[in-house]
Amino acid sequence: MMVRALSRRTVLGLLALGPVLPARAASPGSVNVVATTGMIADTARTLGGEGATVRALMPPGSDPHAFRQTRSDLAALLGADLVLWNGLGLEAQMERLLTDLAARRPVVAVAEAIPADWLLEDEDYGRPDPHVWLDPALWSEASVAIAAALEEAGLPAAGALPAWQEELAALRDYADEVLATVPEESRILVTAHDAFRYWGRAHGWEVEGIQGISTESEAGIARIEELVSLLVERRIGAVFVESSVPDRNLRALIEGAAARGHEVVLGGTLLSDAMGPEGTYEGTYPGMIDHNATTIARALGGEAPERGRLGRLGS
Ligand SMILES: [Zn+2]
Repeated sequence: MMVRALSRRTVLGLLALGPVLPARAASPGSVNVVATTGMIADTARTLGGEGATVRALMPPGSDPHAFRQTRSDLAALLGADLVLWNGLGLEAQMERLLTDLAARRPVVAVAEAIPADWLLEDEDYGRPDPHVWLDPALWSEASVAIAAALEEAGLPAAGALPAWQEELAALRDYADEVLATVPEESRILVTAHDAFRYWGRAHGWEVEGIQGISTESEAGIARIEELVSLLVERRIGAVFVESSVPDRNLRALIEGAAARGHEVVLGGTLLSDAMGPEGTYEGTYPGMIDHNATTIARALGGEAPERGRLGRLGS
């Protein structure tokens, strides 16, 4: 399904040809915004209002660490009035293209606008952890940068920012509330890769990923064995799939624990690096955060409404 990436030379050639490529038509008078991730696109849609035509390059379920742009994505980027990306190395395969593009049009790395001392460094990854959207307090800061970029592009986004930030604060409060109902000894989140460190810091949970910060890193046998021991010794009952990462490593954990006489179940599928299906509540940023908190709390012995904070999950 992934279209072969364009070589760097081709990219530079197309950049030089920029205006010749057909751009995705925006409605007349609207500002054409292209975002890499769904989370950025959803935020830009909320803040930008009717004057913004926003396209997300990465479809639901895609892995931003590995995502490479297609030709039509490239055309969309070249036709954009404003390009928004996460940065901090998340879009590893698009970084050079986006850096080149910044010489030609407004290109904003929204996670890089968050104060550096709020970010978590990671030695193996070599840069601050890019998964800032999983803590709504950090996303609130990134949203300020998104609003500023939209304003700069001629959209009255600042007016919508306070209500959005209130929504983010309410989401974080809901997550805090339901996650606090999980017995203290069970507050360990085990997932496929290390996407939840900010989430863990926000809610006071331990987090363990089989792979590191990027899904491009390999999970060794030693890491699997280490986590099997953790599951067995701490009597952890559930681990979680991520919609954007294959589940084979998690199945190895479950089998490893079973071989040692401890039953672990799949607690559900979390929306870590991509939102849920388009047109659903889970396909929005608030729905993503609500889904994760609700799923984790319910799977690990806590209490949360089956349909989440607003009764909208699964509808
Ligand atoms: Zn990730």
